[in-house]
Amino acid sequence: LVARMREFGTTIFAEMSALAVRTGAVNLGQGFPDTDGPPEMLDAAARALREGHNQYPPGPGIPELRAAIAGHQKRFWGLDYDPDGEILVTAGATEAIAASLLALCEPGDEVVCFEPYYDSYAAGIALAGAVRRPVTLRPGPDGRYAFDADELRAAFGPRTRLVLLNSPHNPTGKVFDRDELTLIASLCQEYDVPAVTDEVYEHVVFSDATVPHIPLATLPGMRSRTLRISSAGKTFSCTGWKVGWVSGPAPLVSAVTRVKQFLTYVNAGPLQPAVAVALGLGDEYYAGFTADLQAKRDLLAGGLVDAGFTIQRSEGTYFITADITPLGGRDGIEFCRALPDIAGVVAVPTQVFYDDKDAGRHLVRFTFCKRPEVLTEAATRLRDAT
Ligand code: PMP
Ligand code: GLN
Repeated sequence: LVARMREFGTTIFAEMSALAVRTGAVNLGQGFPDTDGPPEMLDAAARALREGHNQYPPGPGIPELRAAIAGHQKRFWGLDYDPDGEILVTAGATEAIAASLLALCEPGDEVVCFEPYYDSYAAGIALAGAVRRPVTLRPGPDGRYAFDADELRAAFGPRTRLVLLNSPHNPTGKVFDRDELTLIASLCQEYDVPAVTDEVYEHVVFSDATVPHIPLATLPGMRSRTLRISSAGKTFSCTGWKVGWVSGPAPLVSAVTRVKQFLTYVNAGPLQPAVAVALGLGDEYYAGFTADLQAKRDLLAGGLVDAGFTIQRSEGTYFITADITPLGGRDGIEFCRALPDIAGVVAVPTQVFYDDKDAGRHLVRFTFCKRPEVLTEAATRLRDAT
């Protein structure tokens, strides 16, 4: 194995899901829903399979899906992208992120990101031979995670190649506000670097969030330097389909396409027309999806509090972060390895998403994208065990 990949073992999600299978624990670790997405989408996929859409689709994705992706971004965010040249369909957001990093970073270049970071960021940066420059998000007195502006400024320098931003943010549930985005945008412009934004939770911002989701590309001067990434997995509860996309100005998208061609060439032929159908669903689908997850968040939050955890504010995403200190826990990794035996529940230790391990040692992440009865069962098990 090449040196640059040696620090990466099995992903925490695979490790914890395997533990759940082995122990029969309720899996609130890996974030995947346990119900299927909209029936219109499933029917369209079944039709496409039967009707012969089973060969290589066109390189950038089928025209129908690219048109639907453009239509969706216009409808929700007022962003205009040309389906021909400004949108590329990828194998999930994961491939879009990796291909963007591989397309833009020379060895030794620096990528400014925030920690805790989604696990594929560190590996994607390493694959590209680049270096991560994480800025730590810390919970403030109001419970919202924030970063220190000077720390962010200090993370930029002559080797900065791009900024990688995830909002709404996994695992903290933070939604970056306009002031924070404005500072990020101004630093991108000062250092003349692009931003890569991971917005897979664009539709998972709750009604009690402090701010709505704001795509960085909508800020002045940012559309021309932002690669905006999203995926069908979260919005349409089909994480196993791995249909994602990246949108941006043609020169940047064309650079990502150059790499993507040789990673996967194309992907998910019969699923692409189905995702196009899903993107075009009415507002009631999107509103219902978010409201359903909010009710699930509240259900799990109540259960975690009853079990004695201190929980952090979750304004969006599939996740709640809990502090294990009140339960006598000190190290989230030890805690999560023992939790299936003690309580029959699986969670994810948040420290694996930090370079600064101390910042996340006492934190664990629970997902709530599960049926209410599953969340109730997990809550009962945790309460009985603590
Ligand atoms: N980014 C974030 C923040 C995620 O939580 C995930 C997990 N779904 C991904 C990217 C990967 O998305 P996909 O499954 O579409 O590759
Ligand atoms: N995004 C999901 C999570 O954070 C997991 C995806 C994966 O297993 N790679 O739980």
